[in-house]
Amino acid sequence: MKTSIATIAIAGDLSKNLTAIANAGFDGVELFEQDLIAFNGSPQRLGEMVREHGLRIDLLQSVKEFGGLPAPLRARGFDVVERKFDLMQALGTELLLVSSCTPAASLGGVDRLASDLRELAERAARRGLRIGYEAVSWARIVADYRDAWELVRRADHPALGLVLDSIHVLADALSPEHIRIIPADRIFHVQLADAPLLRMELEYRSRNFRSLPGEGGLALADFMSAVAATGYDGPVSLEILNYRFHSGLPRTIAEDGYRSIVQLMDQVRTRQPEMVMQVPEMPAKSRAEGIEFIEFAADAEKVAGLERLLDTLGFVPLAHHINKRVALWRQGAINILINTEPKSFAHSAYTMYGTSVCDMALLVDDAQAAAARARALGANPFNQPHGKDELDIPAIRGVRGTVLHFVDQQSALGRIWETDFDLSLNGGQDISGVGLTRIDHISQVMDHGEMLTWTLFYTSIFEMSKMATINTVDPGGRVYSRALQSDDGGVRIVLNGADTQRSFSGRFDADSAGSSVQQLAFACDDIFATSEALAARGFEILSIPQDYYLDLAARCALDASLLERLRAADILYDEDANGAFYHLYSRPHGEGFFFEIVQRCGGYDGYGAANTPYRLAAQKKLKSKRGTSG
Ligand code: MG
Repeated sequence: MKTSIATIAIAGDLSKNLTAIANAGFDGVELFEQDLIAFNGSPQRLGEMVREHGLRIDLLQSVKEFGGLPAPLRARGFDVVERKFDLMQALGTELLLVSSCTPAASLGGVDRLASDLRELAERAARRGLRIGYEAVSWARIVADYRDAWELVRRADHPALGLVLDSIHVLADALSPEHIRIIPADRIFHVQLADAPLLRMELEYRSRNFRSLPGEGGLALADFMSAVAATGYDGPVSLEILNYRFHSGLPRTIAEDGYRSIVQLMDQVRTRQPEMVMQVPEMPAKSRAEGIEFIEFAADAEKVAGLERLLDTLGFVPLAHHINKRVALWRQGAINILINTEPKSFAHSAYTMYGTSVCDMALLVDDAQAAAARARALGANPFNQPHGKDELDIPAIRGVRGTVLHFVDQQSALGRIWETDFDLSLNGGQDISGVGLTRIDHISQVMDHGEMLTWTLFYTSIFEMSKMATINTVDPGGRVYSRALQSDDGGVRIVLNGADTQRSFSGRFDADSAGSSVQQLAFACDDIFATSEALAARGFEILSIPQDYYLDLAARCALDASLLERLRAADILYDEDANGAFYHLYSRPHGEGFFFEIVQRCGGYDGYGAANTPYRLAAQKKLKSKRGTSG
C-alpha cells in the first residue's frame, strides 16, 4: 500500500512538516498550488526538497474549474492548464487533479465535457503527464462520482482517470458500491477523509470538518472495500482540511494520520482478503478485559501521604517487588503499585509531575499480540531493564508519556503477582477493605486537540467503542468528555479535553504540568455501606452543595428516605433507561487528583455526566477556600 497525505493538512513550515510526514511512515504527498506560492524558491527546488525527504509528489491540486466552456473562453481554459503542466514538470510530478467544478460560463453537456477531458488528457500525455478527474459533491453539473466515471469512460483516454475522494463519494449518503465496476487502471488516486454526520452544507463540511478516518461517522470501510475490490493498488491519501489540525503538532498529525490509514486498511483487509494493496501485517484488535494495575510514581521521603490516602480507602499493603522499591497495595481485585525506585522511569515521572499515576496495565487476551499491534500502528515502544527472575512485561508509551503495560492470563504474565512480588509476608491478609471491588474507570486529562489522537490510539489497538462526546460548560471554559469502553465495560477510559486552562480539568492540567491521569474510579456493591466504612477510616468525601439534592428531587422520582440518605452521605445519583448510578468523590489531592467511588445498578452504562457541574463547583469551592487560607 502506498500512503500519502495532503500538505495542507499540516500548518507551518513545509520542510519541517515533510520531516514529520516521512518519519510517520508516509510514502508521498499531495501538493497544492498554495505550497508553490508560499515556497521561497523555484518549483524545481520544491520538488527536490520533497524527494530529499524520501517522499514522492503523488499529485498537484491546482485546477479547480475546467470544462464545458464555449469559444473563445475554451481556449483560455486550456492555456491555464498548460501552465500547470509546466509547473508539474518542474516539480517532478505526473498527476494533475482536475475537479468537476466547472466555470460559471460552462455549458455542460456530457459530450462537450467528455471531449474537453479527452483533449486535456491528450495534451497531458504529450508531456508524459496524466489527469485525475474528481467529482466534487457540491459541483453544479458533475457532483456524483458515477457521472464523473461516465465522462472518463466516454473520453476514453489512457492518460485520464478518476480521483475518488471519500468525502465526495459518501456525501449525501451516496453508496460507494458502484465503485466496484470501475476498472482499477481507471482509478488514478484515492483520497480519504472522514467527517461528522451532521446536517450541514456539503461544501462547508468538506472545507472545515474533514477529519482522520475513524474520527467521524462516514462509512470509510465500505468505501475502501469497494475500491479494493477493483484491484486498485495506487496511493491512499489523506486529504484533511480542518481548522483544528492547524494548531496541532506536525508530528502528531502525521503519526495519527498514518495510524488512521493503516488501521482502516487492516479493517478492509478482513473484508477483502484478496485485495492487491499490501497492508502491514498485524494481530487483530485486542480484547481489553480489565485494568490489572495502576502505578503511582512517588518519592521515598514523601510517600507517606499517598500511603495514608490508600489506607483510608481501605487498601492493604500486601507485598514488595522482588527487585525494585515497588509496593503492591490491594483491595478486592484492585492492584495499586507505589514506585519509589530511584533512577527509574517512575522517578523521572515523579520529578516532572510529582506524585502521580505513571503507568497502568491492561489485562488483554494476548499481551504480546496487543503490543505488536500497537507497534505496527506506530505506538512508541517502552523498554526498561528488568531484573533477575522478573517478567518482561510488554509495554508502550501512552498519553503524555505514561506507560501502558499489557498482561494476559494465557502466558507467564498471568502470574505477575506471584513472580514479580514477594507475597509470602502478607499474602493471607483480608483485602475486602471498604468493599471496593474493581477499577470502574480512569479519567485522563488532555488538551481538547489531543482527544482525537488518544481516541484513535485506544480504539485502533483495542476492541473499544467510543461513546458520544459530552460537553460540560464550566465557568472557566468548556470541558469535553468522551468515554471509551470495551463491550462488557471491563475497561472504561474517560478522556477529558479542556479548551482553556481556567476550567477545572484545564487547571489540573496546567498545574501538574502534563501528568495525565486525573481520576481513578473504583466500583463497589453497596455504596452506603462503603461510604460509612470510608468515613470511619477518615476518608474525606467531597461535600456536595444542598442545591444538588433539590435539583435531583425534581429530576428523578426518588423516595424521600433515599434522597435523605444520599444527601447525608454526599452521594450523587443518576439513572438511565437501564439502571441507576450512585457515586461519591474524594476531596482533590495534590494538584487536583481525585478518587471516585461508584455503584452501577442494572445496566446503567454512563458516568453520571448530569452531575458533573455540581462536582466541578464543589471542587472549585474547596480550591478557592484553600487559596484564601494559604
Ligand atoms: Mg479531494
